[in-house]
Amino acid sequence: MKHILLIATGGTIASRSTGAGLSPQISADELLSYVPEGKSLCRINVMQPFSLDSTNIFWKHWLLLSGLIQNHYDYYDGFVLCHGTDTMAYTAAALSYLIQNSPKPIVITGAQKPIDLPDTDARTNLIDSIRYAADDRAHDVCIVFGGSVIAGTRAKKERTKSYNAFSSINYPPIAVIQDRRIIFYIDSRKPDRSETVFSDRLGANVFLYRLIPGSDGIIPELLMERYDALIIESFGVGGIPDYGNASLKSSIHQWIAAGKIVVMATQVPNEGSDMSVYEVGHAVKNIYDLPESYDMTLEAVIAKTMWILGKTKDRKEFRKLFYTTVNHDLLFVPG
Ligand code: ASP
Repeated sequence: MKHILLIATGGTIASRSTGAGLSPQISADELLSYVPEGKSLCRINVMQPFSLDSTNIFWKHWLLLSGLIQNHYDYYDGFVLCHGTDTMAYTAAALSYLIQNSPKPIVITGAQKPIDLPDTDARTNLIDSIRYAADDRAHDVCIVFGGSVIAGTRAKKERTKSYNAFSSINYPPIAVIQDRRIIFYIDSRKPDRSETVFSDRLGANVFLYRLIPGSDGIIPELLMERYDALIIESFGVGGIPDYGNASLKSSIHQWIAAGKIVVMATQVPNEGSDMSVYEVGHAVKNIYDLPESYDMTLEAVIAKTMWILGKTKDRKEFRKLFYTTVNHDLLFVPG
């Protein structure tokens, strides 16, 4: 029988009404008591490193979680993390970069309603996650939610209330779970897997600048001192506005001249960027050789940028790692 470690971190799944709003109160053991059938699927130990609304989870917690998984890696066959849904896609992306080539599954789940409510989605999500983590075919970081198994780099929270809160962006779900059966769409197990690689550093000085019509370069210039990387969340397939004075274009020039990283991404969730299409993107990209997101999610771009900055600030090295596919994050790899 497989041995699974359940790591509870808070979120709605573990929340109760407090009078001041929902907050995580339900312990890891209690969570497990709501899915007694889990015991017939595998042996389960629990752990609770913190109990937070995921609004309060950030890169320090990502490092803590990957360190915890690394420390327990040899003793378990798989891991299930209960986590709030609001920043789950970021945590899943971050763990995908921090823990690579894992033959053991690291499954992240949560719920839109607390586990002790009668009409909750939590019990299904938790038992689905345990079932998936105990399956021989499962590996690497993924989210199990609403009957879908989504690669850790491909998830986006697209609904604030519905039970199918997460979508798999620009990539099919790895599997679906229906009536206790796991139906795999993608089996990417590698027979000769290279070693599992853990990273223990992230460079968190990353700023995301979402453009609106009229955005100029004033804010990016002010931010330059404080941040190592600027991710520009541009329009459509990607373009940089140029309205004359204090333009974003000239601030990009300054960032590059200062040896910093500028990454182009898009605020359109589906189908990705391609800055070569329009003149407004083409010129800037070519002059400064900016890396762009292509089909990666914004969450993946942010986590990947932090992961790379934990290793290097060199622009050439950054580019190479940015365009290296990790846990299905990037299909379009430029030549
Ligand atoms: N605010 C909650 C959280 O992200 C929402 C949820 O878990 O669904 O922790």
